[in-house]
Amino acid sequence: MVTVLGIESTAHTFGVGVVKNGKIIANQRDMYTTETGGIIPLDSAKHHKEVSESIYSRALEEAGVKEEDIDAISFSQGPGLAPCLLEGMKFAKALSLRLKKPLVGVNHCVAHLEVGRVTGAKDPVLLYASGANTQVIAYASGKYRVFGETLDVGIGNFIDTFARYAGIGFPGGPKIEKLAKDSKSGSGEGNFVELPYTVKGMDIALSGILTNLRQKLESKKYPLENLAYSLQETTFAMLVEVSERALAHVGKKELLLGGGVACNSRLQEMCKIMCSERENSVGEKGKTEFFCPERPLLVDNGAMIAFLGEIMFKAKANVFSHEELDKVDILPRQRTDDIEVTWK
Ligand code: AMP
Ligand code: MG
Repeated sequence: MVTVLGIESTAHTFGVGVVKNGKIIANQRDMYTTETGGIIPLDSAKHHKEVSESIYSRALEEAGVKEEDIDAISFSQGPGLAPCLLEGMKFAKALSLRLKKPLVGVNHCVAHLEVGRVTGAKDPVLLYASGANTQVIAYASGKYRVFGETLDVGIGNFIDTFARYAGIGFPGGPKIEKLAKDSKSGSGEGNFVELPYTVKGMDIALSGILTNLRQKLESKKYPLENLAYSLQETTFAMLVEVSERALAHVGKKELLLGGGVACNSRLQEMCKIMCSERENSVGEKGKTEFFCPERPLLVDNGAMIAFLGEIMFKAKANVFSHEELDKVDILPRQRTDDIEVTWK
């Protein structure tokens, strides 16, 4: 029996999860939000510090375990905002020292992918669409490889920035989704406004679209609902296109969603349609399965860190005893394909 705690703090969310033998038994989180602006890293870090103790207690309570039952402490080592990562690491190290239990450094993006196992996905292509990250990732020969990604900003940050221009606060994603639904007329069709469509091979670019949207917003010629609708239709189609290309390239038959933007029901719908219409190599349709975790596991959360933490703890991958904590540091720019996957 192994019980592993996971701590998430890469950006706006402080989360603590507990996993026991591959089963998630707690997932508590608290998110830093603002009324009008975007994330201020130092403010978000301050938020994490303030809520850490109470989130930790709530997680133990939910799991029904005592501190002494914890066998290892895992934490998000990167990528992320340095001040936020530091708060999580400080909390994790203090716990490791106090409980005399090992520390496991976990890559946040890989955790989004691995936690997809709870949905039944076995060897998927992951469309990881979150605030800072937008990547299409799949396992191949010892590593998680990035097959496509944004060349500039993450899809969530892109949406949040547009929301900030429109003065509707952070996080913008859910508000944009609602506005996009409001754009739909009686026929079910939204009022589409043409935007640039920028797919470059396996990658996408969003900053040009953001500039275009900003100009349209400032011209006051377009209702915000229609811009929100067109933003979703255009950029989500780009995500679906690169995901499908990755599926074809690596010959995998499962698509998994991850990241906060994957909470969007229109993105889920578009991915589902693509999967059901995809043909396999012998021309049969519907051979790609679609997997999407529940919302609490899609957004940044401690449970996915505990989930991968347990796997890595058992595989002795990036595990440090409480006596060698000075060897561990945050890795704000860590890349998915830097990780040697020794546990598969
Ligand atoms: P993450 O960084 O994975 O926690 O995801 C946070 C991002 O998800 C933020 O940029 C949010 O605006 C975005 N987000 C959350 N819910 C939605 C939604 N329903 N539609 C689009 N984006 C969303
Ligand atoms: Mg994330």
